[in-house]
Amino acid sequence: MNGVSRKIIAVDMDEVIADALSEHLHRYNRDFGTKVTTKDLHGKWLWDYVPADHQNALMQYMLSEDFFSCLEVMPHAQRVLAKLQTRYDIFIASAAMEVPSSFNAKYRWLAEHFSFIPSSRVVFCGDKSILQADYLIDDNPRQLRLFRGEGIMFTSPANVFVTGFKRVNDWLDVEKMFLE
Ligand SMILES: [Mg+2]
Repeated sequence: MNGVSRKIIAVDMDEVIADALSEHLHRYNRDFGTKVTTKDLHGKWLWDYVPADHQNALMQYMLSEDFFSCLEVMPHAQRVLAKLQTRYDIFIASAAMEVPSSFNAKYRWLAEHFSFIPSSRVVFCGDKSILQADYLIDDNPRQLRLFRGEGIMFTSPANVFVTGFKRVNDWLDVEKMFLE
């Protein structure tokens, strides 16, 4: 029975294990002389918050060579995922098709910070309806609605008002939910 009955947890990247939002805010504030913080984004995606003529700049940040390599790891993500791996099959599932040029950088970032997750367990996809996992931990309500297993909402500023999913606020909450 070795491993046969283990449940599968799929884990999103941006805003779940990788702090893309902080890097976005850092670059945006630097370039536009603003002081936007995560508090300003309560219930809003950064894309909806900035004026229409600044949206292209946001996209350019994600297309820039060094964007993903700069991202901080979300607190406790490494420790908790390593622990989860002892009891669950963990897959990283990123909707990388949204920015196809990000594949290499995202893959390198994972290899650097989550080397304990084998590349055979990394999924770069479009919509997450294709995943056959028991759980998906994600901050994006659209992906959680598409997913066919149990969606777990990882809190980020944009999704604070979304209901209908179990919610975790950080990796300590994930640890409690799956390991206690
Ligand atoms: Mg995300």
